Amino acid sequence: MSKHVIEVPPTVALSIIGSDKTFPVRRVYCIGRNYAAHAIEMGHDPDREPPFFFQKNPNNLDISGEFPYPPKTADVHHEIEMAVMLKSGGINISVDNALDHVFGYALSLDMTRRDLQGEQKKMGRPWEIGKAFERSAPVGPIHRVSDVGHPDQGRVELKVNGDVRQEGDLNQMIWKVPEMISYLSDYFELAAGDVILSGTPAGVGPVVRGDSMDVTIEPLGSMTISVV
Ligand code: MN
Repeated sequence: MSKHVIEVPPTVALSIIGSDKTFPVRRVYCIGRNYAAHAIEMGHDPDREPPFFFQKNPNNLDISGEFPYPPKTADVHHEIEMAVMLKSGGINISVDNALDHVFGYALSLDMTRRDLQGEQKKMGRPWEIGKAFERSAPVGPIHRVSDVGHPDQGRVELKVNGDVRQEGDLNQMIWKVPEMISYLSDYFELAAGDVILSGTPAGVGPVVRGDSMDVTIEPLGSMTISVV
């Protein structure tokens, strides 16, 4: 007999390239405005102001290859991002030691109900209804550090129906992966299973049902996500 009064909710588990095992997810942190050109397009100063983060829920991550158009919006935007998966954590992690905690990297999307996010921003309210909705973070299989190292440069590109909409390079991140981990660990206790979405380059824009998004981060390959 289980000691729980309900069934234990399923663990969100991501696949790993070259392994039969999976990566269980604990938390999902997302950094905002981490590429200067995207900060500018969203109406902000690209200066190196301190980073800021919001969270999605572990079960917002979705490995199906399909993105169901969500309710209560008429303006869902794509944001291509590199996801960073942690194998360990702690508090007050130094920049120099931060990469020791990384298990691997994956392609991901921070899908955003931009109209709802915009209303929340105007009212100074939290972003969850714009950001943390069902299946709002399509994610590809994880590339282990032992296979790809720690990618810090390489083309980042998102196409919609074959047309390039977002392009940039991992080397344009304002806050680099070790800095993000270190900064987060001053505010939160990081742990194995945590995932960090590292921000998006310029060119965010809407998708509609029937669109096909081709997501490429050069060191991590490509994936295609259908909007259904
Ligand atoms: Mn984002």
